[in-house]
Amino acid sequence: MTDLSGKTCFITAAAQGIGAASAKAFAKAGAKVIATDINAEKLKELEGIENVSTRLLNVLSDEAVTIAAREIGQVDILFNCAGIVHNGSILESNEGDLDLAYDLNVKAMVRTIRAFLPGMLERGDGAIINMSSVASSMKGVPNRFAYTTTKAAVLGMTKSVAADYVAKGIRCNAICPGTVDSPSLQDRLKATGDYEKARTDFIARQPIGRIGTPEEIADLAVYLAGATYTTGQAYAIDGGWTC
Ligand code: NAD
Repeated sequence: MTDLSGKTCFITAAAQGIGAASAKAFAKAGAKVIATDINAEKLKELEGIENVSTRLLNVLSDEAVTIAAREIGQVDILFNCAGIVHNGSILESNEGDLDLAYDLNVKAMVRTIRAFLPGMLERGDGAIINMSSVASSMKGVPNRFAYTTTKAAVLGMTKSVAADYVAKGIRCNAICPGTVDSPSLQDRLKATGDYEKARTDFIARQPIGRIGTPEEIADLAVYLAGATYTTGQAYAIDGGWTC
């Protein structure tokens, strides 16, 4: 098991789903975790867990990210987990959808990396983990134009940061999950109007025969934080969807 004792880990969108499972997994691995989100109520559920502190943070605000980084100081691990799913093809996606998808799925990661990378470079050590998706440059997924486009950008960003800083002790990798059972997935299933059919359809696209759990993705994030010989990679964890 990866031992992250003595490390500090900053996570965005940590109030629920994969982010919350990751906050718990990083803390269990020994890291001191700063779990951030815009949802104050859900963040409270993490309070009291050993090694976890919480902080309200809207990653759409460059100013808020900059202030948070200044107050927190250097971190060893940055896990950019925030992201949003929009439905629709290119003809069904409006400018507003695209703007928000780019802002939250891509530019928010640029903000946090810009804020925390200088501290990592000062010490010559740091692990950045960016949340992408199988729906990216890995695989075209129907009805996910804004999402797939922006999650592909996350992979480009990951490789760019990795290439620029590989010789300076910084590693940057991306996680590409298939379908994972999180609160927003439950919302998407309910929004179809036929929950059972939608769930069956989602399961059917995972050859392994089930939807993944947030804990399974969190385990990969912990692994990547400690995996000292990998950078610039996109790690699919998708129940065989892309195999
Ligand atoms: P989720 O969608 O259920 O929760 C998202 C969290 O993001 C919420 O706690 C929300 O409050 C927070 N958030 C929203 N806007 C924010 C903002 N501006 N600033 C800070 N936090 C904000 O969680 P999930 O489904 O586990 O998804 C987490 C990440 O994993 C996302 O990037 C998503 O695209 C990615 N992902 C999820 C799946 C899946 O099937 N669930 C698959 C592939 C990738």
